[in-house]
Amino acid sequence: EKFLQNYYDAHPKSLAMYEKAKEILPLGVTSNIRANKPFPFFVEKAGGSKVWDIDGNEYIDCQCSFGPTMIGHNHPVLSKAVIEQIGKGVDYAIPYENERVVAELLRERYPFMDMVRFSCSGTEGTMHALRVARAYTAKDKIIKLEGGFHGAHDSVLWSIHPDVAQAGPADAPTSVCMSAGVPSCLADTVITVPFNDIEALERAIAANKGQIAAFILEPIMANSTVILPKENYLDKVRAITTRENIVLIFDEVICGARVSYHGAAGKVGVTPDLVVVSKAIGGGYPISAFGGKREIMQHIEVDTEHCGTFGGNPLSICAAKTVLGKILTKEATESLIKKADKTFEEMKGMLKKAGVTSRLKHIGAMGSINFGITEVNNYRDMAKQDSDMWFKFYISMLNRGVIMQGGDATETIFFSLQHTDEDFEKILTAFKATVETL
Ligand code: PLP
Repeated sequence: EKFLQNYYDAHPKSLAMYEKAKEILPLGVTSNIRANKPFPFFVEKAGGSKVWDIDGNEYIDCQCSFGPTMIGHNHPVLSKAVIEQIGKGVDYAIPYENERVVAELLRERYPFMDMVRFSCSGTEGTMHALRVARAYTAKDKIIKLEGGFHGAHDSVLWSIHPDVAQAGPADAPTSVCMSAGVPSCLADTVITVPFNDIEALERAIAANKGQIAAFILEPIMANSTVILPKENYLDKVRAITTRENIVLIFDEVICGARVSYHGAAGKVGVTPDLVVVSKAIGGGYPISAFGGKREIMQHIEVDTEHCGTFGGNPLSICAAKTVLGKILTKEATESLIKKADKTFEEMKGMLKKAGVTSRLKHIGAMGSINFGITEVNNYRDMAKQDSDMWFKFYISMLNRGVIMQGGDATETIFFSLQHTDEDFEKILTAFKATVETL
């Protein structure tokens, strides 16, 4: 088709580099999700709101590295701070003051974070949060959402994007392992429930009475496109998990700092026991933090392992201190959210005018579009979307110089602090022209 041919025509060097990379890197990439169809383009450099590829194409970047570069690329205030830090050393593995300072900055946003620990990735954050929850409750099983992504460790690589034909009934899904190499004996420890269904949660808990250590979820789903919690769903989740002595873990790896200054917990007004944050708080440098109730976190002081050579490294901590303290201020966050609201609403109007059956949902500085469907309350609703139309949309936007999101129909659109008014206008112009072809 023409849109694909245009993509091939614009990326000859990337195609050649991809073929070469595949000889030594499985799938030619460093993270499976980056092996976009028909082939990924290769980056030359990034700066501000833009990315340039090795074929000389310029893009406005709304993928924002899957979330971390919410402040845009190479933000001058961040780069200056990190360069200064390089002069003072990039890795100590010995305590220093800024670790505590960043923990306090996080506590300002999440007042329930009595204690905090740092790691380098979202995966490590959820892994450690689940471990400390299991230690605290002395229970093994966990509950997660169908369609919920929490990173690459064995406890959570279940039912991320399962084939619904193999995943059992919608209101009592089977946990489907998403990777070979995960021990099958873990199947009994991971219970999967649909989002926005309190009865299904109650049934899952009753069937595993007294055995559930934690319920981990994104309070606002952002990995099965954006799905909002129904009214009172999270309040009820909070009440049930308290009643059952189940540690409630909010995975805010994406939502943190993005849906509001006080994260998703602040936005929805529900307090979890533990929260995991990452991505946006580091401005592109690798960092995650998990924390919450003192009595849970204190297990780390008694019997529970949390460690990592690069955890709390001075560059990442310096980045988080600068991002949280100086760049992603309340005012900056609110101003970006206002611009995002306006842009997404204009997109909605364009989809409607072009007569494209679709659902556009947005909150804070993120949003997503599902083609061919109009309502999504959980993963299975989302899975009915028209992925072929999404693919045409995605490639056509690339052809018009906009990276709308990661190269998969389940991903999310992100806007950054460095998107200018001119960028938003260009995005909307490309969007209008693209949806008219759909
Ligand atoms: N949790 C959520 C909600 C995520 O979106 C991701 C990554 O996209 C992770 C955890 C894992 O983070 P990382 O890729 O840094 O390990």
